Amino acid sequence: MPTEFEVLAKVPTGLFIGGSWVDGHGEGRIAVEDPATGKTLLEIANANAEDGLAALAAADAAQAKWGKTSPRERAEILRRTFELVRERSEEFAMLISLEMGKPIAEARGEVTYGNEFVRWFSEEAVRIGGRYGSLPEGHGRMLITKRPVGPAFAITPWNFPLAMATRKIGPAIAAGCTMVVKPAELTPLTTLLFVKTLEEAGLPAGVINVITTSTSAATSGPIISDARLRKITFTGSTQVGRQLLKQSADRILRTSMELGGNAPFLVFEDANLDAAVDGAMLAKLRNIGQACTAANRFIVHEKVADEFATKLAARMGALNLGRGIEAATTMGPVINEKARANMQRLVDTTVKEGGEIVTGGEYGAGDGYFFKPTVLANVRPGSTILGEEIFGPIAPIVRFKTESEAVALANDTEYGLVSYAFTEDFKRGMRLTESLETGMTGLNTGLVSNAAAPFGGVKESGMGREGGTEGIEEYLETKYVMIPATEAAD
Ligand code: NAP
Ligand code: MG
Repeated sequence: MPTEFEVLAKVPTGLFIGGSWVDGHGEGRIAVEDPATGKTLLEIANANAEDGLAALAAADAAQAKWGKTSPRERAEILRRTFELVRERSEEFAMLISLEMGKPIAEARGEVTYGNEFVRWFSEEAVRIGGRYGSLPEGHGRMLITKRPVGPAFAITPWNFPLAMATRKIGPAIAAGCTMVVKPAELTPLTTLLFVKTLEEAGLPAGVINVITTSTSAATSGPIISDARLRKITFTGSTQVGRQLLKQSADRILRTSMELGGNAPFLVFEDANLDAAVDGAMLAKLRNIGQACTAANRFIVHEKVADEFATKLAARMGALNLGRGIEAATTMGPVINEKARANMQRLVDTTVKEGGEIVTGGEYGAGDGYFFKPTVLANVRPGSTILGEEIFGPIAPIVRFKTESEAVALANDTEYGLVSYAFTEDFKRGMRLTESLETGMTGLNTGLVSNAAAPFGGVKESGMGREGGTEGIEEYLETKYVMIPATEAAD
């Protein structure tokens, strides 16, 4: 494993505009912090609105030529990038763990997962299809083709520093779109290292541009209202997504929105309880509970609720809090003090509203933002915690009696990203896949994410899909050509 200093020394600290690493014109530099120690890892460039527009100008200037490159050429650049990231996977894992806090084993998992999007879209690039057919009246033919949307703007969250970037950059490159990428201020380093890798893999100047900024609204606004931009793709909170949709409306921008979640995790009386606890550990604690797919509400049949709570608490209570890059660590800190204080508020409020702490419920020791993995039992339907995205290591358990009651509880939210259900009854399982109002369902599993599958939500969890054959469509426009049928003159 490389040392943390070796890895940090490889990270470019500038903005990447038109193929050059340049300094930003925003105020000062951005200090990127290690959430496990509170110490600064690196200082990087801070973009202002002018830099944002320079990045858009570079993307716009590169678009026409890039859109005409052969699919094979784009595929091979992605494939080379995939190989390079795989060779450097330990560096990427270390960097993710340092800036975001997740245990190194999980960071390795993110490198594999995030890089899968690069491989998947290298394969999708050459499969952009079209169709040809007769008009029903017979007087003409229709030729239907796909074209790149044009310059896109990607805004990503801090929780999966590599995967959230590759899910957007991969399909944009495959489709022939250029892009300006704005990673989250809290974890921008992995995107910078990834883009440097793209550059080494031969990506032409201007195709992908990166701006890091401490003034995301002021720097993004002018990009969104500029006539050169054709598309915005965002992953983050529903609140910010709603704001960006309003801004996009003025210019009728194509939008893809991967927003917040409030995933229900249903455990029926006929479930394999050990499998359900394994699934719960993944669905709840992957990324220290800071995932849009994180199980937010455990809805458990009253006959098995106590046993489930005891087993889950035993597993969660045994986790070892620490710095992600240390081998003994099985659980990292939450991202910052604000997030940690929010965990305490949610626990205290739940207890006031009648819930009980089975394990955890308080800050962990050390300088980082540690919060003990927490199980809350007998949480009352209607409790505050059930209506909010927790985004941390707290598992509230609600009891139910009947399947229809469980489904009603599960669907009682404005979100609709993912749901999980554990049951050994096949017919019930099939019913649930249809009655749960979410874009994705994990049936007897706590992990659904896969580069080959369409990831995304319904309701206020967003629109559009990332990954799968659907993922590239977000970066393509459909073009229809009408060709009148003719007859030979002779
Ligand atoms: P966030 O606060 O919404 O921020 C996401 C990104 O938007 C960041 O890059 C942020 O920049 C930027 N941003 C914030 N306000 C903006 C504005 N007015 N104009 C332009 N950009 C703006 O979300 P987060 O705290 O980073 O991430 C957590 C959220 O993301 C959760 O709700 C989670 O569910 C969601 N998420 C969803 C998915 C999914 O696929 N559905 C995946 C992962 C996460 P700054 O860093 O400067 O604030
Ligand atoms: Mg934020």
